[in-house]
Amino acid sequence: MHVPLLDLRTQYARHREEIDAAMRRVVEQAAFILGPEVEEFERAFADYCHAHHAIGVASGTAALFLALKALDIGPGDEVITTPFTFFATASTIAHTGATPVFADIDPRTYNLNPDAVARAISPRTKAIVAVHLYGQPADMDPLREIAQAHGLWLIEDAAQAHGAEYKGARTGTLGDVACFSFYPTKNLGGFGDGRAVVTNDDEIAKKVRLLRNHGQDRKYHYALLGYGERLDALQAAVLRAKLPYLDAWNRARREAARRYNAFLADTGVVLPYEAPDIYHVYHCYTLRVPRRDEAVAYLREHGVGVAIHYPTPLHFQPVFAHLGWGEGSFPVAEQAAREVLSLPLYPEITDEQQAYVVQTLRNFLKEM
Ligand SMILES: *Cc1c(COP(=O)(O)O)cnc(C)c1O
Repeated sequence: MHVPLLDLRTQYARHREEIDAAMRRVVEQAAFILGPEVEEFERAFADYCHAHHAIGVASGTAALFLALKALDIGPGDEVITTPFTFFATASTIAHTGATPVFADIDPRTYNLNPDAVARAISPRTKAIVAVHLYGQPADMDPLREIAQAHGLWLIEDAAQAHGAEYKGARTGTLGDVACFSFYPTKNLGGFGDGRAVVTNDDEIAKKVRLLRNHGQDRKYHYALLGYGERLDALQAAVLRAKLPYLDAWNRARREAARRYNAFLADTGVVLPYEAPDIYHVYHCYTLRVPRRDEAVAYLREHGVGVAIHYPTPLHFQPVFAHLGWGEGSFPVAEQAAREVLSLPLYPEITDEQQAYVVQTLRNFLKEM
């Protein structure tokens, strides 16, 4: 048996007609950049987040980068974030000329530890970027209190958390501005590159709209030094066709996570923790296991697609060596990076597939 880490083809097969029709519509209208498809998707995604604005953008660095630029963050500024995240969370801070300042994480949720954030604040701090890792919202109330007390912006990296909730409010509305990714593997994924910036703030939205399109406020008239970072209509059409299913897919992910929890309860591995009052959307189902690297090799050898999110905390990345962090700077993140393991999880995963994954992991634990 082979169980992949994720299975995008099954999802496409189930919704092929709607998705193909959406793509054909774009091709036949021959309107490929921005335009009505993008506007309709932006409206639908803003509504989905219960937010006022969603602005579609293109590249992997664009969403966070343009959000930071819209907040006038740049050289001399510091932005606090987690070292236990995808690279783009911190690279976009550095691209503005600001300095990423890391703060350690909570060992149970893997999200920013608000006390560590409070300790990392300096007179130069301008913003906090909270990542909702694996689909679980960060602890936003204490982060918002810290942000308000120090006059900081609070930004959500919601790339893994479309539809997740914190105390009844959806991601996208938990800070000043939020960034989503529609990378094909995300809970809502396109057929290529695509992202969105989501906010309730009219000024931020207006500025991101200008910045993504060369700063052009009317044809061939440039109010700001902007970028070519527009969402394309094909991606928007695919995403709009898929959006109505997102809640059901998230429910299926939660159900699959619940099944893994039940199957693995007696094995002694550290299961995912859900903080009170949140709605976790399980972008990843991530455990801590003993002898993790051997577990990865064993599971792969036996046909189970697994992944490590993430093997190297960002303060160890060569590109951030000049920041001066070292071994022991963020011990909770460092330990997590040594122990975490993500099992196959996607809305269409079957009981049989999950049973095989669990049995294989049990065999490893027994042989160990
Ligand atoms: C996926 C992801 C991003 C952005 O990824 P892109 O591939 O550039 O869309 C940013 N932050 C986190 C935490 C992510 O998982």
